[in-house]
Amino acid sequence: MTSDPTPSTAAVPSTDDEWRARLTPEQYDVLRRKGTERPFTGEYVHTKDDGTYVCAGCGAELFSSDTKFESGSGWPSFTDPMNTENVELHRDLSHLMIRTEVTCRRCGSHLGHVFDDGPGPGGKRYCINSCALQLDRRSDEG
Ligand code: FE
Repeated sequence: MTSDPTPSTAAVPSTDDEWRARLTPEQYDVLRRKGTERPFTGEYVHTKDDGTYVCAGCGAELFSSDTKFESGSGWPSFTDPMNTENVELHRDLSHLMIRTEVTCRRCGSHLGHVFDDGPGPGGKRYCINSCALQLDRRSDEG
C-alpha cells in the first residue's frame, strides 16, 4: 500500500468489544451486523448542509454533500461515492432480494446498498444509513 486515502482518521477497532465501545447500539447493529435503520428516522435524511460525510465507524471520507439528493426513500441518498477507493461493493442475496451492499473499505462496516435507479448520469442511488455517517460540515476556506 503506497498511501492511506484517509490519513486523519482514527484507528480501526480490531475486536467486537472495541466496536461496541465506539458505537451506539443502533450504529453497532447497522455497521457491524448489517442492520437497517428505520426509514425517515436518521439524522441526515433531509440534511442539505455542505460538507463531507465520513464513516461513523472510522472517519474515512465516503460521500460529498454535492452528490446528495432527495430520493424519498427515507435514507440519505447519493449519486456517487466521494472516492471509489473508499467503498467496497458486494453482492447481497439476503432477505430474498438481489442487492449490492456498500461497505467502508477501511473498516469493513456496512453502510447501505446501491441501486440502479439514481437520477445522475451514472444512474446510481447509494442508499446509506444515516447512522453510518457523520457529516463534517464544510467551512468556506475550502
Ligand atoms: Fe469505516
